[in-house]
Amino acid sequence: MSDCLFCKIVAGQIPSRCLYEDDELIAFHDIHPHAPVHFLVVPKQHISTMSDVDARHAALLGKMMVLGAKLAGEQGCAVRTDEAGKTVGGFKLLFNTGPDGGQEVYHLHLHVIGGPRPWRSGN
Ligand code: 5GP
Ligand code: ZN
Repeated sequence: MSDCLFCKIVAGQIPSRCLYEDDELIAFHDIHPHAPVHFLVVPKQHISTMSDVDARHAALLGKMMVLGAKLAGEQGCAVRTDEAGKTVGGFKLLFNTGPDGGQEVYHLHLHVIGGPRPWRSGN
């Protein structure tokens, strides 16, 4: 999709702060983070929204979530027990979908949002 922002990032035509890349997926930091950690996991294939996926995309979506959680851990957001025995850490995995879902970029992406609170209001 020549006019798609994330296709341009995938193609390297627009720079991004890349965290991870393989044949199918790329992950990069969000340009307007909502929290101390906020990055996007994006399939290289252009899919517009979660309303466009079907059972053939199940493996790809699974890979996106597994990668998002792994990278969240690498960014310091893993759920863990602190020295006082309290459960700390954690993150959100979020697919905004369509106008009512608050989607602004129509190339499928998984938001991974975490880090110490407070976060930007609304999250
Ligand atoms: P949506 O609202 O579509 O779920 O989220 C799109 C996200 O893409 C937003 O959080 C926005 O900050 C981010 N974004 C928009 N343009 C760019 C860009 O050029 N580079 C990066 N890294 N993120 C972007
Ligand atoms: Zn695209």
